[in-house]
Amino acid sequence: MKSLLLSRRDLDFLLYEWLHVDELTKRQRFADHSRETFDGVLDLCEQLATRYFAPHNKKSDASEPTFDGTRVIVIDEVKEALDAFAQADLLGMSADEHLGGAQLPVTVAQAAFAWLAAANVSTSGYLMLTIANANLLAEFGTDEQIATFVKPMLAGRFTGTMALSETQAGSSLADVLTRAEPQADGTYRLFGSKMWISGAEHEMSENIVNLVLAKIPGGPAGTKGISLFIVPKFLVDPDGSIGERNDVALAGLNHKMGQRGVTNTVLNFGDGTFSPGGETGAVGYLVGEPHRGLSYMFHMMNEARLGVGMAAVALGYTGYLKSLQYARERPQGRPLTAKDPSTPQIAIVEHPDVKRMLLAQKAYVEGGLALELYCARLIDLQHGPESAEESEQATHLLDILTPVAKSWPSQWCLAANDLAIQVHGGYGYTREYDVEQHYRDNRLNPIHEGTHGIQSLDLLGRKVTQHGGASLAELGKAVSASVAEASAVGGEAAELAAQLQASWERLVTVTAGMFGSGDVEAALANSAVYLEAFGHIVVAWIWLEQFVVADGRSGDFYDGKRQAARFFFRYELPRTAAQLDLLESLDRTTLEMRDDWF
Ligand SMILES: Cc1cc2nc3c(=O)[nH]c(=O)nc-3n(C[C@H](O)[C@H](O)[C@H](O)COP(=O)(O)OP(=O)(O)OC[C@H]3O[C@@H](n4cnc5c(N)ncnc54)[C@H](O)[C@@H]3O)c2cc1C
Repeated sequence: MKSLLLSRRDLDFLLYEWLHVDELTKRQRFADHSRETFDGVLDLCEQLATRYFAPHNKKSDASEPTFDGTRVIVIDEVKEALDAFAQADLLGMSADEHLGGAQLPVTVAQAAFAWLAAANVSTSGYLMLTIANANLLAEFGTDEQIATFVKPMLAGRFTGTMALSETQAGSSLADVLTRAEPQADGTYRLFGSKMWISGAEHEMSENIVNLVLAKIPGGPAGTKGISLFIVPKFLVDPDGSIGERNDVALAGLNHKMGQRGVTNTVLNFGDGTFSPGGETGAVGYLVGEPHRGLSYMFHMMNEARLGVGMAAVALGYTGYLKSLQYARERPQGRPLTAKDPSTPQIAIVEHPDVKRMLLAQKAYVEGGLALELYCARLIDLQHGPESAEESEQATHLLDILTPVAKSWPSQWCLAANDLAIQVHGGYGYTREYDVEQHYRDNRLNPIHEGTHGIQSLDLLGRKVTQHGGASLAELGKAVSASVAEASAVGGEAAELAAQLQASWERLVTVTAGMFGSGDVEAALANSAVYLEAFGHIVVAWIWLEQFVVADGRSGDFYDGKRQAARFFFRYELPRTAAQLDLLESLDRTTLEMRDDWF
């Protein structure tokens, strides 16, 4: 039976026919691998997703974690799933060998992990946070920190969190107030409160490794004064055993619209609930140098941003497959021109408007999946480059694509979930079907890891102009290469290529005009419109690439790929023209709107 989580056929197409990930094995970093090991991990994650993650997805939504005053209780199935993943030795899928990792390409690891997110985004959230936390510490931590915290995380004994946000400092991390007082022994004591911290309190692991942003008194103001600390739930004794309780106390659980299976907490540091070593303050260990915490944290945030994008895709994908199955089974109405009620009803999948909703979902989720895997492959090129130039190119592309890879699926794969509900009609609005939960779960993705608005400012205010526009130019080169290849194929591929080229050139012209105007305020005021237009043009490029691979091949799968590409170019890409008109005019409607006029 075909899975209703993801399409393995599509994953194979993207990984092998398009991205040729098997060729990565020619690089030293991935030399121990082969297509067989890649397929093995994909199979394993699909099996784990189906057996351990999907079955409790609805239950963990209905039975969210509770706090009994001492302990946070999470349904047993969550730990069983986490343990199954750890026992399969998958936490270190893409980690370095010297850490005990398997050094798989990130592209393959991301594709494999997508099964888990599609099956149960909440339970997989604990894993995503732990892996990203371990990766950050592996990069910037000391040998001792790696031995004490990273290895137990990769072994599945400890879990990890990222603790950035505070009630008064969400989008604006410059306003973080948690403070870290240096101690004579080189450690720090932390005091303050963090808001929204996912996965930060539960009994499912021996320890919880919180990565906390805080300010050392006397440091520079704003983000330049932020440092990064490891603040574990329990102190770890020199022999690695679990020691005293640290002063990290749960102030409360947040009750969410979706993703209810993963704990979301308000955490107090150093409020005196516990007193490690008989003193006040939560014990923290500085990561790297003082005041450079945000730059380290970006390592985790960038990974988490791609992870959020992939989770959005996974939720969109499973919703699409479920609505497709429903549409094939639900008889309702007759063909547009058939008026005779004595003729049998047809399945709703036959109605053009339902096909429109299914095609839109297919275009969004397959486009989003391809975008995420493309970005993951850029990380692999960074990790195991063939030349310094290749590594630099990959870095530029990843820089400019990360806000898109986070935001585009968060917007459009959520739109896919909305359409999945619509395809189900009234049934989609009930809790008997899965799609309403997918929508609620996915609704978080445009909010956390930097809201949509913040991503748009990152793209337009930073990434587009950075290094004298080098990242944008690198993306332009990649788009031009695809256009040239598709033009050489000729026929319909060349027509789509011409359409993409025109959109790209317009985007570049409008971008130059916006900055050339000197009116930075007006340019940035419509950054969200820019992000949307930019994202659609990027995904059109990704669809052109898929069209070219599918071109000339026969069979339903390739026909479907080409039709989805056509849909994207006919129904979606043209939207960007009106958006670019607005941007070009440096429209001031939002700037000039006054609070009093609302
Ligand atoms: C379920 C959930 C899980 C989370 N998990 C974590 C976690 O594990 N760790 C963690 O550290 N944080 C976590 N967060 C916090 C999350 O990253 C923040 O909610 C997010 O960054 C937004 O901050 P805020 O909620 O304070 O909203 P605000 O920053 O107050 O934003 C409110 C609105 O104003 C807009 N806005 C704010 N500033 C600007 C600006 N300068 N320009 C334009 N628009 C602006 C925003 O885009 C948004 O639409 C989580 C949040 C949720 C809801």
